[in-house]
Amino acid sequence: MNTQKYDVILVGVGEAGSTLANKLSQAGLKVLGIEYGQHFQDHRNDFVENEAGVLNLSWKNTNYIIEGDGFLGIPNLGANVGGGSLVWTAMAFRYFERDFQLKSKYGNRPGLSLADWPLTYQDLESYYTISEKHMGVACTIAPWDHAKRPEYPNPAHCYYPSSKMLEQGMNKLGIRSSAGPAAINSQPYQNREVCVNCGYCRSGCRVDSKYQADKVMLPAALNSGNFELKTESVVVKILTSSNGKKAKGVVYIDKKTKKTHQATAKVVVVCNNPMETVRLLFNSADKNHPNGLGNKYDQLGRYFFAHPTIFGVGVTKQETSVVAGYNMGNIVSLDFTETRDSKKYIGGFTFVSLNGSGAGVVAVDAFHNLYGQSLKEAMYKFPKSLAMIAFCEGMPTANNRVTVIPNKLDAFGVPIGKINYRLTDNDHLLTKKAVENMRQILIASGAVETYIREDSFETHPMGGMRMGKNPKTSMTDSFGKVHSLDNLFVAGGSLFPSGSSLGPTLTIHALALRTSDYIIDNFSKFS
Ligand SMILES: Cc1cc2nc3c(=O)[nH]c(=O)nc-3n(C[C@H](O)[C@H](O)[C@H](O)COP(=O)(O)OP(=O)(O)OC[C@H]3O[C@@H](n4cnc5c(N)ncnc54)[C@H](O)[C@@H]3O)c2cc1C
Ligand code: SF4
Repeated sequence: MNTQKYDVILVGVGEAGSTLANKLSQAGLKVLGIEYGQHFQDHRNDFVENEAGVLNLSWKNTNYIIEGDGFLGIPNLGANVGGGSLVWTAMAFRYFERDFQLKSKYGNRPGLSLADWPLTYQDLESYYTISEKHMGVACTIAPWDHAKRPEYPNPAHCYYPSSKMLEQGMNKLGIRSSAGPAAINSQPYQNREVCVNCGYCRSGCRVDSKYQADKVMLPAALNSGNFELKTESVVVKILTSSNGKKAKGVVYIDKKTKKTHQATAKVVVVCNNPMETVRLLFNSADKNHPNGLGNKYDQLGRYFFAHPTIFGVGVTKQETSVVAGYNMGNIVSLDFTETRDSKKYIGGFTFVSLNGSGAGVVAVDAFHNLYGQSLKEAMYKFPKSLAMIAFCEGMPTANNRVTVIPNKLDAFGVPIGKINYRLTDNDHLLTKKAVENMRQILIASGAVETYIREDSFETHPMGGMRMGKNPKTSMTDSFGKVHSLDNLFVAGGSLFPSGSSLGPTLTIHALALRTSDYIIDNFSKFS
């Protein structure tokens, strides 16, 4: 087996991996990025405006054994260079200060495993500002924004007709609303075009007005001469030193040739999504780490959670142009993100509007109880509809966990993953409340019929590699360094101790920038 040598190996070149590649290679480090999927270099011709396009670009879950009621569909993650940023709907929220301190705020709650993050909003603040510039976030300062936050890099998009109706409805109910922060160009920005409102954000943006990490973060890495990208290859094992204190490198399989390769590096960063990061660490068990890498205290894979998500449609009496426009968050309300009745439940939910090519989504979600003629009739009403989503703050609990099944192997001969994810009582209370409030908003905005799917589906998987100060109750420190290994890092949503009800990706990007700085500043220690 040929062994290649690098300063840093990145496992997965998705959103976080592309961000690390950009920073580390420009700092002069020799970086190898190994990515499961393809590198689409010609977005205009590689992507197709087709609602099913999202399925081709998303991570497939066929290899997981799933237990519990929390995990139903396709994991909300990517499967190619740029990862989930190819399919994301580009809502780029900063977390609130309070989101980093769930345990301090609510203490111990039965059935939940709350924890504070090992860092604060202030530790991430400057990285949030850089991340918003990378993404070209378009928005105006909203009533709930942090008092000291700078102006957004781009002006907010205009409201669509459906957003104006939702605004009026929320006004009537005394609910505040605002344009959502969209990583979608409202004016030409960094050589990327303005959004043409085609409505197909989830099948990849052909004109690159949406932030897509492969187009924004990777070119500088590739041009630096320090970054090598190996595509269509799957990392199957992390190798460690004889005393078990260091990651030495990785073993990966080229999916086309089926050949196995080995690469070594001074630092390994695992950024391949919450389920796969955990699976890889379990499957890299060795004599020094018999229960999985860094899993001395049985924390690996625990506290896995997502955003239980509710989808609703309100049919009005007028044309709403809902079928045009970028997909999510033209108008949002963050008024419900904070607990309203902490005796009953904790956490909150975020309301966002939905536009664009959503007919199929509407059929499978909001209209999921309708078939045949009644489904057809309901679909005819879609052009007169308002569509909304509520992302609820799924709570972490120790028993919701990703593990592996040692004797069941995938096509690469590696044990498959098992996901235990049961919604908590708190999750159920939150989603019920979100349904209630969504219905009120839709009716106040002019809906004469409402269709709300009351059983939630999961979006944005997080956790499994919880960050924390105490190695007995977490897997990594605040920089994503696995506690018991000197040079093994993790990036991505698996690190999150809790997940707010806001999209995680701006925070994933900001954390990846912070981890990159840490690796660059301390690189001599790893040599
Ligand atoms: C339809 C959709 C809409 C979304 N909308 C939003 C939104 O509006 N706002 C928001 O904040 N978030 C949104 N998200 C979530 C967002 O895409 C993710 O939070 C983000 O992509 C996570 O970044 P990541 O780097 O951790 O993982 P990813 O971007 O998924 O990257 C992981 C990469 O690792 C690769 N990989 C996996 N295993 C291996 C292996 N063993 N070897 C090599 N490579 C491997 C994968 O192919 C993938 O490319 C959305 C997601 C989807 C699917
Ligand atoms: S609606 Fe805008 S951001 Fe979305 S795919 Fe079309 S052009 Fe790109």
